[in-house]
Amino acid sequence: MRGETSGKMAPIVGVLGLQGDVVEHLDALRRSGLSAVEVKTRESLAGVDGLIIPGGESTTVAKLVDRYALREPLVDRITAGMPTWGTCMGMIVLSKEIVGMPDQPTLGVLEIAVRRNAFGRQVESAEVPLAIPALGPQPFPGVFIRAPWVERAGPGVEVLCVLDGKGVMVRQGNIVGTSFHPELTRDGRLHRWFARLCGRAADAA
Ligand code: GLN
Repeated sequence: MRGETSGKMAPIVGVLGLQGDVVEHLDALRRSGLSAVEVKTRESLAGVDGLIIPGGESTTVAKLVDRYALREPLVDRITAGMPTWGTCMGMIVLSKEIVGMPDQPTLGVLEIAVRRNAFGRQVESAEVPLAIPALGPQPFPGVFIRAPWVERAGPGVEVLCVLDGKGVMVRQGNIVGTSFHPELTRDGRLHRWFARLCGRAADAA
């Protein structure tokens, strides 16, 4: 499952390639020297150490996940501990509940209730400096595009970043969600942080 980079075993990070800003995530990973592959099939999912679900349109991806027969393999691997990070739409797809939209299907693995398109005008499409202690003292450029926020989180969920009193980055063990889009910035810290989770999970396996 693992690639060799300059003599050291490096984790392979997958990007779910059904819809959305797939290429931007692959580029962001590669800019940081990480091994990245697009995942569209059960077979390609089996070959990665972790998975990013990109931003896009959650109603579309919810349908495509079933059309590509990926729901069961995704839920199986995520609940078995595969590091998984959803950005914006990806966090919606991972969530247990979408506030006010009980009929929109999700994978239901991350114990949060999200509100879609939640931020008002000033943050609707904006770049906001975010304090994320897990990344160190320097603020992270938070790019928000019709972003969801975390309205409620279960007891096993750590809120790692808050904006306007709302959770915008959460972690439940191997599952991470961000409301914003690090793949649209030149700041690779979150991709490298996530790749370290993937490396640790692969070492433990
Ligand atoms: N508004 C989109 C949705 O609810 C998410 C937007 C994004 O991923 N940039 O699916």
